[in-house]
Amino acid sequence: MTGGLQPCLQSRLPQDAPTLSRIGRFAPSPTGPLHFGSLLAALASFLDSRASGSRWLLRIEDLDPPREPPGAAEQIIHTLDAYGLHWDGEIAWQSRRLPLYREILQQLLAAGLAYRCQCSRSELKRRQALLRYDRHCLQHPPSAAATCAIRARYPDQTLSFTDRIQGVRRYPSAQSGGDFILFRRDGLFAYQLAVVVDDAEQGVTDIVRGADLIDETPRQQVLQHYLHYPQPDYAHIPVVTNSSGQKLSKQTFAPALSLEPELIVPTLWKALHFLGQTPPPELRAARRDELLQWAITHWDITAIARQTARCQEGE
Ligand code: GLU
Ligand code: ZN
Repeated sequence: MTGGLQPCLQSRLPQDAPTLSRIGRFAPSPTGPLHFGSLLAALASFLDSRASGSRWLLRIEDLDPPREPPGAAEQIIHTLDAYGLHWDGEIAWQSRRLPLYREILQQLLAAGLAYRCQCSRSELKRRQALLRYDRHCLQHPPSAAATCAIRARYPDQTLSFTDRIQGVRRYPSAQSGGDFILFRRDGLFAYQLAVVVDDAEQGVTDIVRGADLIDETPRQQVLQHYLHYPQPDYAHIPVVTNSSGQKLSKQTFAPALSLEPELIVPTLWKALHFLGQTPPPELRAARRDELLQWAITHWDITAIARQTARCQEGE
């Protein structure tokens, strides 16, 4: 879909790398404990990988220390374990991979695919360039001494991709937000850069995640193209909302998943139903791993609803 884009860098991935094995992943940002919405993303991705005999990786996206309460990553890891969602291999930590992101950023800058931007939020607002960046700093490059963000160029063309759950998605460039941030003025790497680099470096072929991230996909595909990375397949599961229609998140005070042993199977059961999977009633009393095994064997991604699913409190 990004076929018309020019130019791109030489691939830094081995070209003869074996492509036989498929790889999925769960990539939480440790901004708080897992809630029911994040369990759905983890479970869907886990089942999708296990059902196809793929590897399933865990990557902690800890790139934003001010937003990460101490111990949150460990709590996420512990919760996944308690719910029986066991990953393969070592956990990847983005905070330990900054030199790689820095190197790739330099390559993008050198190739003219990214550029420095010193606009502050208030300047962007004044120029009405908050929603779609006006390329001010591409036309007026900041001085070498200026503290800058780094933006990637976003093409002036309609991009589209086919999501395994949501179908064909089209993104006219006028609604795209334009050139997007890879590195923030406060010195932090943006999610977009790290997620694309790591998915490629880890050989991820199948991305299953919440639909709140679906509109990030075209930007990620632009970067994949620039970096000569293969494009993974995407599946975006519906976002869960609370009874007032708000997305479950830390900001809407979604409760942390319970670790009470007697609540694990009922919570997994409810999560499977949200994903359109219908285990037989006798499995309500099953052990955790028995229920998960059923879900792996019977995994049907086409049964997942496209739309937002509402979660009633106490349901
Ligand atoms: N770290 C991101 C988040 O927790 C998810 C990244 C992804 O799945 O692409 O929202
Ligand atoms: Zn700028």
